[in-house]
Amino acid sequence: MKIAVLPGDGIGPEIVAQAVKVLKALNLHLEMTEAPIGGAGYEVAGDPLPEATLKLAKDADAVLLGAVGDWKYDKLERHLRPERGLLRIRKELNLFANLRPALLYAELASASTLKPDVVSGLDIMIVRELTGDIYFGQPRGISMLESGEREGVNTMRYNESEIKRIGRVAFEIAMKRNKKVCSVDKANVLETTELWRQVMIELSAEYPEVELSHMYVDNAAMQLIRAPKQFDVMVTGNIFGDILSDEASMLTGSIGMLPSASLDQHNKGMYEPSHGSAPDIARKDVANPLATILSAAMMLRYTFNDEANASRVENAVKKALAQGFRTADIWTEGTKKVGCAAMGDAVVAAL
Ligand code: NAD
Repeated sequence: MKIAVLPGDGIGPEIVAQAVKVLKALNLHLEMTEAPIGGAGYEVAGDPLPEATLKLAKDADAVLLGAVGDWKYDKLERHLRPERGLLRIRKELNLFANLRPALLYAELASASTLKPDVVSGLDIMIVRELTGDIYFGQPRGISMLESGEREGVNTMRYNESEIKRIGRVAFEIAMKRNKKVCSVDKANVLETTELWRQVMIELSAEYPEVELSHMYVDNAAMQLIRAPKQFDVMVTGNIFGDILSDEASMLTGSIGMLPSASLDQHNKGMYEPSHGSAPDIARKDVANPLATILSAAMMLRYTFNDEANASRVENAVKKALAQGFRTADIWTEGTKKVGCAAMGDAVVAAL
């Protein structure tokens, strides 16, 4: 199993080092090769996604990414900025399915802004389509009307095969979880999502064990705050998923805990924490590495189909939290504050 390890910028190298440490402790046959991306890529090759890095990522079975970006690159021309490297690698690898779990460990229930009984034990998986919808649909643009005023246009567009392939990802994931899929749309108003709903219903015939339900996006936004534990897997288009996954991430209260995966058609994936490169705390050994470690667990589950080791890593994280270890972002009175590397060590010890 070949893994391209792309630490990136800011806290990227520190948090990725912890995830690599945990993967090594599993004693699997993993070939891990590092390469620069983002600002680090620009520094060594004048390109936020150097050719050699892209080749390594294409040849690998999975990519483990830290984060990219630093304020010092903000003045570079747009195509040289770190974020371009990230957008390009997602496109080059054809990663159309974005998986964002919102999972709250009981030990951290007080970190949420919602009441502990509403969020304690929360475990939702949001499956967001990543390469279509109103973000990419043509025609688009701002033009001048004959009347002399300007008009802005974007086009919400999905074809059947695009809906089917993201639907399939959601149903397959539900089969590995509690076998419930909630498809989120706005089928009462938007024809694109009326088709979305029809295709989901057709597809569900192939997954008789999975219970499919539908929800309008406005209600879904409300239900996520009112009673989030009713959801298992949510599947939705690009724009609704963008908004709902950020909303869901805040249910858990801490950005340093949230992993993510982006998959292609063959379950090859790029795994990265949901947060950015946090240049404000870089090189201070205070960043929370758990989102990255949990991203590595997702890699084991979704690309390498290794449920046993994925669960081992997740349980080790739980155990380290139960033992009271906390990085500064999740620290509360009465727990043990540790740095980034020590948190990685605590997870390895718990393994
Ligand atoms: P950010 O997520 O990097 O940081 C937001 C806040 O959360 C900061 O206070 C930071 O210290 C804290 N934080 C983030 N991750 C943490 C962790 N693991 N442990 C403890 N605290 C953590 O977002 P930002 O400040 O808006 O952006 C900083 C840089 O990151 C920018 O250059 C931005 O473009 C980039 N960025 C990259 C990605 C990515 O690589 N996927 C995503 C978002 C932002």
